[in-house]
Amino acid sequence: MNYYSKKLLVATGLNDNIPPIKGIDNFYGKSIFHCPYCDGWEVKKKLIGVYAKNKNGFERAVELKTWSKHVTLYTDRRHYLKPQEIDVLKKKNIRVVSEKITSVEGATGKVSNIVFANNKKERCDALFFVNGHEQRRHIARSLCCPMNKKGIVITNRLQQANIHGLYVAGDVSKDVQFVVVVAAEGAKAGESINKEIQKEDFKVR
Ligand SMILES: Cc1cc2nc3c(=O)[nH]c(=O)nc-3n(C[C@H](O)[C@H](O)[C@H](O)COP(=O)(O)OP(=O)(O)OC[C@H]3O[C@@H](n4cnc5c(N)ncnc54)[C@H](O)[C@@H]3O)c2cc1C
Repeated sequence: MNYYSKKLLVATGLNDNIPPIKGIDNFYGKSIFHCPYCDGWEVKKKLIGVYAKNKNGFERAVELKTWSKHVTLYTDRRHYLKPQEIDVLKKKNIRVVSEKITSVEGATGKVSNIVFANNKKERCDALFFVNGHEQRRHIARSLCCPMNKKGIVITNRLQQANIHGLYVAGDVSKDVQFVVVVAAEGAKAGESINKEIQKEDFKVR
């Protein structure tokens, strides 16, 4: 089916890659998170875990020391830590646990334990995972929109892409993923779209 429009604003967001740990869906957004700047304050001074199997969790573990003394990095059998990073983690009293994890358990959205393959458990009040995200950029891709190396649509400061009439705003765009940024980008795009349409309507032919 074809749709026609003078302008198109793509604001399709992104999908966080939630690690495939048994039980995680019961806690995501309540006591398991991906963003320390969104959810760190609510779990300050608690037992915080960082889960990083497919990515290097060094930065996230260090960031979370802002909110709690008790941070443990769980690498689930793999790790991508450099020797200098391991030294910093030690100096900052961040434990690194590399045992295989099978599940997380708790009740009513509140995670309480990390469960290992050897049936041991460790207490945990909040878990932050580092597992990347996928942009929902199918529309921009189907329009062959120019993208940067990370596959994110290139825009100017008014959210205009390099295709006339196309705008991109929110998580699908290149900036940080915070509601205030998303709203600001939407506002800039909205104003720009309206101005462009007015100009085009009054253009002397
Ligand atoms: C657990 C969690 C906690 C967070 N906490 C905070 C916080 O405390 N503070 C903060 O600032 N930010 C927080 N964020 C981030 C914030 O939610 C996002 O930055 C924001 O919601 C992104 O808005 P968006 O409109 O760009 O995308 P979205 O909110 O993802 O909206 C995109 C919409 O487009 C729809 N869509 C996708 N593809 C299509 C299509 N092809 N056709 C039609 N519709 C489509 C989707 O269904 C969705 O409804 C959090 C995110 C999560 C997941």
